[in-house]
Amino acid sequence: LKPQKPEPKGPERIPGIAHIIAVASGKGGVGKSTVASNLACALAQRGRRVGLLDADVYGPSQPRMLGVSGRPASPDGKTILPLRNHGVTMMSLGLMTNDDQAVVWRGPMLMGALQQMLSQVQWGALDVLLVDLPPGTGDVQMTLAQKAHVDGAVIVSTPQDVALLDARKGIDMFKQLNVPILGMIENMSTHICTNCGHEEHVFGHGGVASEAAKLGVPLLAEIPLDLQIRLASDGGAPIVVSDPDSARAAAFGTVADAL
Ligand code: ADP
Repeated sequence: LKPQKPEPKGPERIPGIAHIIAVASGKGGVGKSTVASNLACALAQRGRRVGLLDADVYGPSQPRMLGVSGRPASPDGKTILPLRNHGVTMMSLGLMTNDDQAVVWRGPMLMGALQQMLSQVQWGALDVLLVDLPPGTGDVQMTLAQKAHVDGAVIVSTPQDVALLDARKGIDMFKQLNVPILGMIENMSTHICTNCGHEEHVFGHGGVASEAAKLGVPLLAEIPLDLQIRLASDGGAPIVVSDPDSARAAAFGTVADAL
């Protein structure tokens, strides 16, 4: 008998980081970064040691959403010290470029930058590192899954058909990369008029729930389209930090509890 070939080894875990969870979406602008920052803060509020890697190279918004600025220091010239706010350790490509500097990178450069963020940032001991991915199914997603052991992905979508279509492609990609889907989140699922209380389904309703059921993955939360959520993120203190006891914050807390 020929000696059996060993199973191809999957990517290694990063020392000190117990779990990596990707926050992903098919389309841009569906609230993936808003979910990632609120989820990170909600996990920190639950006593977890949390890191947030902003890998959304085309629109890195975590520095603003978590209220951090300034260039991260590199005292030894080799490793990078992450920044910290609201109990979350974070690093973003947005902190390495000027605010209005467009990132026009080719695949290999993106892969190098992500690799650097994973291996050269002094994350310290973390229970979970959330990775805010760019939308879609590109090089960054592939690189992450190849370079690090990703424990699961959370998919954010609006109930709109066009968003769901792309979300489906994203889910398919993670399946091919052997990354388990932890669940889907329906964002902007409903809007309640602050004047008259009328409820309107701006992007349709229930689309993500039925998609999740079809795919056999949990629906983790339905988050309303809500002015206060947007204002909180723009102000650098996500709603789970600025208004922790509100119903809006509770929606994100449910996801943190489920992970
Ligand atoms: P993505 O990361 O998918 O591109 P963002 O999280 O940056 O999306 O959200 C896009 C915009 O929509 C931001 O201005 C954000 O504040 C706003 N936003 C996201 N989710 C909500 C929500 N549930 N209610 C109100 N505004 C939201």
